[in-house]
Amino acid sequence: MNSNRHSLYSAVFIILLSIFSINAHGKLQVFTCEPEWQALVENLGGEHVTAVSATTAFQDPHYIEARPSLIVKVCKADLLVCTGAELEIGWLPLLLRKSGNANVQLSQPGSFMAADFVERLEIPHRHDRSDGDVHASGNPHVHLDPHRLLTIAEALSKRLIQLDPTNKDDYQTALHKFKRTWSQRIKEWENKLQSLSGEYFIVHHRNWSYLFNWLSLKELADLEPKPGIPPSSSHLLSLLEKVENKQAKGILISNYQNPKAAQWLSERTGLPVITLPFTVGADDSIQTLENLFDAITDRLVANSAGQHD
Ligand SMILES: [Zn+2]
Repeated sequence: MNSNRHSLYSAVFIILLSIFSINAHGKLQVFTCEPEWQALVENLGGEHVTAVSATTAFQDPHYIEARPSLIVKVCKADLLVCTGAELEIGWLPLLLRKSGNANVQLSQPGSFMAADFVERLEIPHRHDRSDGDVHASGNPHVHLDPHRLLTIAEALSKRLIQLDPTNKDDYQTALHKFKRTWSQRIKEWENKLQSLSGEYFIVHHRNWSYLFNWLSLKELADLEPKPGIPPSSSHLLSLLEKVENKQAKGILISNYQNPKAAQWLSERTGLPVITLPFTVGADDSIQTLENLFDAITDRLVANSAGQHD
């Protein structure tokens, strides 16, 4: 009798496991495409999630290789959290196809595309990537606006609850804590950067559009003629005139980018090259999303000091 009951319980347990798609340790296995989403998932999921990221802060998330080790990780995932908006179009579809994991395919509850939950900037009038524009669905780099990040956090928390309803209370508590801390920090960052409002910067790739939109900073020029097209000498020469006509504060690049083009322009214009972390893990001091925004705002203020019109 006891043994029958035991096997009945075991069967129910196995069925529940398969329904909620959680592994034997009871943790949601989360595959993220970029470190910012790994950090957010860990913030919101705490002890109930195990998250990995396909890319690091030293890789351009537009272009990575769909390695077999990544396919294995997608295969094991209960939830996939990526940016979407075509950022991963060069590698994620292949990973999804090869993984054979039905739970994390697009439009399944196990697939979460962050950019789908916020308004995107720079959506082109004409959807056409034949000229090499890698932002054909609008700018995908949404994580550098902390307000949008809050919206994404709320949607992601709901998704965690949908996939793992047993731990609903913990997910809700974590979300409230995140919202409270984040709202407070946003005010601090905004105060710190207030003096730079309206100032011009030159960028290498439109990585910073959401940051600029948030802080009212302005993009004077892009070292890339189009998003994803490497800087050419003719394009760089054309920027010299632009820079002469309008005083900018500096040239922004991120860790994973080749600094040559920025240095070339810096040598001819005297503008500082400002290397900013683009995501979590860019250096040892940047282990969380808060660290990331602290570092970006600190470096912007420090490097822009002393540059006057
Ligand atoms: Zn991009």
